[in-house]
Amino acid sequence: MGTYFEFLNRINNKETSSLEETKFFLENIKANSHLNAFLTINEEEAIKSAQESDKRFNEGNPRKIEGMVVALKDNLSTKNIKTTCGSKILENFIPVYDATVIERIKAEGGIIIGKTNMDEFAMGSSNENSAYGDVSNNFDLDRVPGGSSGGSAVAVSANLCHVSLGSDTGGSIRQPAAFTGTYGIKPTYGRISRYGLIAFASSLDQIGIFSKNVEDMALMIDVISGKDEMDSTTSDIQHTNSFDKINEANDKFTIGVLPYQEMQSCNLDVLKAYKECLSKLQEDGHQIVEIELKNSNIWIPTYYILATAEASSNLAKFDAVKYGFRAQLEENDDFIVKSRSLGFGEEVKRRILLGTFVLSSGYYDAYYAKAQKARRLIQDNYKEIFNLVDFLFLPTTPTTPFKKGEKTADPIAMYLSDYFTTSANLAGVPAISIPVGFNENGLPIGMQVQMNNFEDEKLLNVSNFLTKLFK
Ligand code: GLN
Repeated sequence: MGTYFEFLNRINNKETSSLEETKFFLENIKANSHLNAFLTINEEEAIKSAQESDKRFNEGNPRKIEGMVVALKDNLSTKNIKTTCGSKILENFIPVYDATVIERIKAEGGIIIGKTNMDEFAMGSSNENSAYGDVSNNFDLDRVPGGSSGGSAVAVSANLCHVSLGSDTGGSIRQPAAFTGTYGIKPTYGRISRYGLIAFASSLDQIGIFSKNVEDMALMIDVISGKDEMDSTTSDIQHTNSFDKINEANDKFTIGVLPYQEMQSCNLDVLKAYKECLSKLQEDGHQIVEIELKNSNIWIPTYYILATAEASSNLAKFDAVKYGFRAQLEENDDFIVKSRSLGFGEEVKRRILLGTFVLSSGYYDAYYAKAQKARRLIQDNYKEIFNLVDFLFLPTTPTTPFKKGEKTADPIAMYLSDYFTTSANLAGVPAISIPVGFNENGLPIGMQVQMNNFEDEKLLNVSNFLTKLFK
């Protein structure tokens, strides 16, 4: 289904060109405009890059991802291309530099086809918080694609590009991947530079990838990962080398799975799919170990205290002086207050208030400092788990894609759709969502693999193995 790998085959057989492939995606984006997946289409530039790719293909020296057509979440800074973060406050913001990941993609022959819709400042689980309208799930237009990287997920799932990038602070790549039948990875914290990613919660944010298969994902992560002088949180190691290792044979695994009481928030479709996967793993001779999660009840509260605290600080810079939207003033209006009140949406304002509250002097110890201690317990529990097992296997989401509007009136219900994803960000560990099939109504289901820090290469190898096993 339109993978980069298939494209390479066709191009090697001289059956297509990079220009033809790029034009196909541009047409398909327009034919699917009702999905609202894209905020900006980079048509002219994309065509120019495709012509350069064809030149290099014809000269016999293609680069690592030559002609790969890539869509970018609109919180990634793109030189001379509007970058809104899904917010009115950045409606006219045109960055003057490319994020490191984008520089690396361009340097290896990737083609930037456009910027994708998202929940405002990456806050949300359904893409209903975008100032530019909802994104529709391509499997059922009345349902959400997940969030906050919903546009990037649909761009891959609906075949509007080969691969896309998103950001994952508490699940924003894995959850929409599960809802759209795509692969979605959040790498280890520090494995991919975030220079040029507009920050939501800096100690949790990671850039990651959506793809239709493991091969394309491996090629992409090998290009964008590795030390970057511009981001001091990147660890001091070079690019991953996962592509060459995805087919390496494995011994039998020891796999951590969740006991039944951890699955109570799951609907029957997800439970059934999970059980089927476990039986296949068992039949294949792997050792299944039920894991005692010591603190899953504090994952969501810890995440929402820390994420909102950091967001309230990160978003202070949007004061209408330096960037974007400025409110029309009437007498007695405060310029900054009015611009921020009109420029930010409801969910963003809710989080700025919550974050400011947990950081305020009277409540700092009770909430923020306590959440930091809770985070340490969560990290410690992960260390114990990965001393026992090779990886943790769990659902990505408790349910299949829900209906638009179903959870908008109840923020807590919305937050609970991140039940299985926030802990990986709190612990920093790499995690991936793998598509495992559909329910009776044709809605996609995803399962998640989490591994120890810096085992990103192994994570892709295992994902490739599981993909074949679950077929
Ligand atoms: N859905 C979560 C939230 O709303 C995660 C968002 C994300 O990963 N960017 O915060």
